This record gives sequence, C-alpha cells and structure tokens, in this order.
Amino acid sequence: MYQGSKLPRGDSPVSVIGAGIAGAWQALLFAQAGHCVTLHERSDQAMMLSTSHWAGGMLAPYCEAEASEPVISRLGLRALDLWRQELPDTPFNGSLVVAHSRDRTDFERFARLTSGHQRLDASALAELEPSLEGRFRDALFFAGEGHVEPRRVLPKLHERIVAAGGTIKFNSELRASDRDGIEGIVIDCRGLCARDEQPELRGVKGELILIETSEVQLARPVRLIHPRWPLYVIPREDNLFMLGATSIEAEDTGVSVRSALELLGAAYAVHPAFAEARIVEFGSGLRPAFPDNLPRIAIDENRFAVNGLYRHGFLLAPALAELTLAYVQHGRIDNEVMQCA
Ligand SMILES: Cc1cc2nc3c(=O)[nH]c(=O)nc-3n(C[C@H](O)[C@H](O)[C@H](O)COP(=O)(O)OP(=O)(O)OC[C@H]3O[C@@H](n4cnc5c(N)ncnc54)[C@H](O)[C@@H]3O)c2cc1C
Repeated sequence: MYQGSKLPRGDSPVSVIGAGIAGAWQALLFAQAGHCVTLHERSDQAMMLSTSHWAGGMLAPYCEAEASEPVISRLGLRALDLWRQELPDTPFNGSLVVAHSRDRTDFERFARLTSGHQRLDASALAELEPSLEGRFRDALFFAGEGHVEPRRVLPKLHERIVAAGGTIKFNSELRASDRDGIEGIVIDCRGLCARDEQPELRGVKGELILIETSEVQLARPVRLIHPRWPLYVIPREDNLFMLGATSIEAEDTGVSVRSALELLGAAYAVHPAFAEARIVEFGSGLRPAFPDNLPRIAIDENRFAVNGLYRHGFLLAPALAELTLAYVQHGRIDNEVMQCA
C-alpha cells in the first residue's frame, strides 16, 4: 500500500529517541541511507538505563518459533542477514538445546515445534562442544543461529552510526515538549519509557546471572529445556557466561532467591564445573511488550514509534529498521507489523 501525500520527504532529517538495540539499528540504517540522523539517549555510553544492556543477545529465529508467532521467525531470518552484512564478525556458531531425562517429553515437543535443527547423538555433541562430553544423550543443533554480546555490540553499532555520518547525544533525555518541537522524521524507540504515549506497553522481567570460570568452554548458547522458562547458558568473552533468563509478569528489577536458584541450577545441570564458577553479577531487565507480545511500528505521518520488542529485540531490530526505511523510501507497508494512524 502506498500512502502518497502522507509520506515524509525522503531527504528529511531523522531524530531517533533511545539508543537501545531498536534505536541503534534505526539510526544506523537511516544514516547509511543518507539521512542526517541524530540519536538521543538519556543514559551515558554505558547504556545502563536500557533493557538492551541486560539482554542475552541470542539471534535465534528457529528456537523462538517454539513459543512465538510466525512473524517473529520471518523477521528474525531477515535480520540474521542484516547482522551478517553489517557486523560480519558476529558469531554464527548455531545453538544447542538439551534436556534432563525427566524433561524428555518437553524436549521432543520443542523438536516438533521448531525447524532448522539436526539431532546430535552424544558423540556428535562431544565433537561440537567438547566440554559437554558425557553430559547428555542427545541434543538439537540449530546451525543457522547466532549470538551477540549486547554490552559489546551496542557500542559497535553506535560507532558505525557515527561513521555513517550520524550524531549521538548521550545524557540527552527528551521530554514530550522537546519531542513535539522536533522537525523532520522522529523515530521513538524509548522502550518501556514510551508508556506515556503507548499505555498498553508492559514490562516483563527477565533475571540473569553472570558467572566466570575457565573450567568450561562453550562456543555457542546452550538452552536447557525447563518446565517454566527457556533457561540458557551463553558464552561471553573473558571466560564469562550469562545464565538467563526468567520471564515474570512483574516490573521490579530485583532478583529473587528462587530465580537465582533456578538459573544456577540450570548451569550446574549443563556442566557441574559451573559449581566452582565465580558469580560476577546478578541483574534483571524489563522487556517492553504489548499485550500480544508482538513488535509494532506505529506511524503517524512523519512520527514513528518502534516498540514491543519483548524478548526478541536483538533478533528483530535490524529487520524493523529496514521496514521503517522502506516505508519512508517507497511507502511500503508491512501489514503484520505496521499500524498507520
Ligand atoms: C534478561 C533478558 C534477556 C534477553 N535476551 C534476549 C535475547 O537473547 N535475544 C533477543 O533478541 N532479545 C533478548 N531480550 C530482549 C531485548 O533485550 C529487548 O527486546 C530489547 O532490549 C528492547 O530494546 P529497545 O531498544 O526497544 O529498548 P531499550 O533497550 O530499553 O532502549 C530504550 C532506550 O531509550 C532510552 N530512553 C528512554 N526515554 C528516553 C528519552 N525521553 N530520551 C532519550 N532516551 C530515552 C532508554 O534510556 C533506553 O536506552 C532479553 C531481555 C532480557 C531482559
């Protein structure tokens, strides 16, 4: 569908509000397309006020199909290409899914509900991940998946925005009156803070633990089938591992003893050597979600609001940026994601 006269001018300046993963990708693609881009972020460069700071960073469109609508896999698969294109050193080592024998039924269910995997027996698993030798009788290997380290990849994206001619203003919190006064295209990527204009947004708490050990080496995320949450261990640089993540309908940012026990228990189940690991950090983030847990690009002439990335922000952000740009450049509308006022 073409929106004719309502389309913003193709050469308009672009202000993006929020430099989390959604805003970073929007700013990058618009800057590369030749727009004069300014990205405003209320945090400093450490990005501690963003949900993105706390994320796992898995790029897992196949695994996520187990509990998500098909639109997540569709956009996620496109986003993998954009990650590869933009940051070619993104690790695409795949991901593994394993289970305790008591969770066998759920493991088989996971296999049925997902595609893009091959089944590994114990020896093939040991060949792929030597640290897991003798730990599980089989595993699902999703070879096409990747992962990024959010606290390293956000600064990389910010650098690329500047290299493409964009400007980033940290410690720049824009109030409603500031936003109203901006000329040109405005792309609101404020995550949960956008509730003043999108009151149906809610936060879904995800707790995580960072641990450090040199006793276990993993080259890819390992998901452990769990009756309540998809628990996983993600390898990071410097012998760090992220244990994540709970999914709780709550908006406090504490970490409960129960969650900590479950996360640490999952790590121990993946490899007992994790018991000797050093705990580096407990943390939690609030995933911005709409009631249907699906992402949305709301369009009102030259005002865009990109939000509701829920537990798929790293997976989806590149594809959502590409959609916003395609609308501005060609008036193209993706009916599953875009809503015009
Ligand atoms: C524990 C956990 C694990 C996760 N794991 C994964 C995963 O493995 N893969 C995946 O794809 N997703 C994952 N997610 C989900 C992902 O983190 C979110 O979907 C994503 O971070 C949302 O990004 P965002 O840019 O919309 O919001 P945010 O990251 O919150 O960014 C919004 C930014 O806007 C800024 N801001 C707000 N108001 C203003 C203002 N007025 N002026 C200027 N700036 C403002 C904020 O400071 C913030 O930096 C996980 C989330 C959690 C909590």
